[in-house]
Amino acid sequence: MVDEPDLNKERLELVLEAAGLDLWENDLVTGQVTHKATKTFLELGFSEDEIVSGVQDIYGLFHPGDLDVVRQAVADHVNGVTAQYRAEFRLRSKAGEWVWFANYGRIMDRSGATPGKRLIGVTFNINDRKQKEDEIAQINRQLIEQNKLLQEFNTALELLASNDSLTGLANRRTLMELGANECKRSERFDHPLSLLVVDIDLFKPVNDVWGHLAGDRVICAVAQACAARKRSGVDIVARFGGEEFVIVLPETDGVSALRVAESLRREVATMSVPINEEGACISVTVSIGVATLHKGSELDFEELVNRADKALYRAKEAGRNAVYCADAHPGSAGAVHVLIEPV
Ligand code: GH3
Ligand code: MG
Ligand code: MG
Repeated sequence: MVDEPDLNKERLELVLEAAGLDLWENDLVTGQVTHKATKTFLELGFSEDEIVSGVQDIYGLFHPGDLDVVRQAVADHVNGVTAQYRAEFRLRSKAGEWVWFANYGRIMDRSGATPGKRLIGVTFNINDRKQKEDEIAQINRQLIEQNKLLQEFNTALELLASNDSLTGLANRRTLMELGANECKRSERFDHPLSLLVVDIDLFKPVNDVWGHLAGDRVICAVAQACAARKRSGVDIVARFGGEEFVIVLPETDGVSALRVAESLRREVATMSVPINEEGACISVTVSIGVATLHKGSELDFEELVNRADKALYRAKEAGRNAVYCADAHPGSAGAVHVLIEPV
């Protein structure tokens, strides 16, 4: 016949073993370990003789980064701040490796003669879980990093798809999309819409004489002059082709558009564009065709561009460095008026 206390001990041992728990008990008054966490020490590679019996000696095995957390958790429980003592920490194995463990304990004699004397608890190995958590945290950090890269990549792709890579201006596709919208808005809200087609005069010889790179610099300089006239959030400035640009001026009548065109023409004519590292500069001129969409014109954006393009052709025919206007009034469709001759 086995004694009931022995039976209870056996049952407890079985439960602890099955759950992988290591029972310990400390005397908080003397600082003595009254029941040693044998399993934990063996797991750490120590022999039974090497198991320490003072709480401070055990603290010597803790990772310095975890010690304050553990001490605070004990203090909180002793002071009644927490109902249980819980802590996660690393212990140094005999071989010098850090292994993660967790403690769960409770003061058992709060109302006894020496309250708060016996802290009893269990230690269990959480190294696998911690390693998985680390791996997941690492994967999450990588995912965040990859997402950031993808977003940057997407933004760059969007920019590439909608903008011209040499000048940074909107490309032809974007122009046709935004321009068509502006046409519809102009009809719906009954306001005029003007358009400038700007083409660099005699540009081919620039390439032939100075080289393609110099030509690119000239294209960029004229692009900048066009962009400088842009009312932010209102106008559209695009590179339409090689050395040709389009400026869309919403809510702008023909007279105002001609003013913009003439001022641009003059500015380009006075520009001196650096074209190489040796400091050589050249000057170019532009010809500009202007077309305005008036109330009831019923032209679509493409037709408006064609009209401005015809006016540009006339400006070229007339000797270049000129602004010509195609009147897009109904009834006068196709008429082209000379507005400003080159000086
Ligand atoms: P016009 O006064 O009648 O406009 O004469 P042009 O020489 O300016 O006109 P043309 O259309 O004959 O020449 C345009 C040139 O622009 C031809 C082409 O090689 C050049 N071009 C087109 N795209 C680029 C580019 O991205 N960079 C450079 N450097 N040249 C370009
Ligand atoms: Mg040209
Ligand atoms: Mg051209």
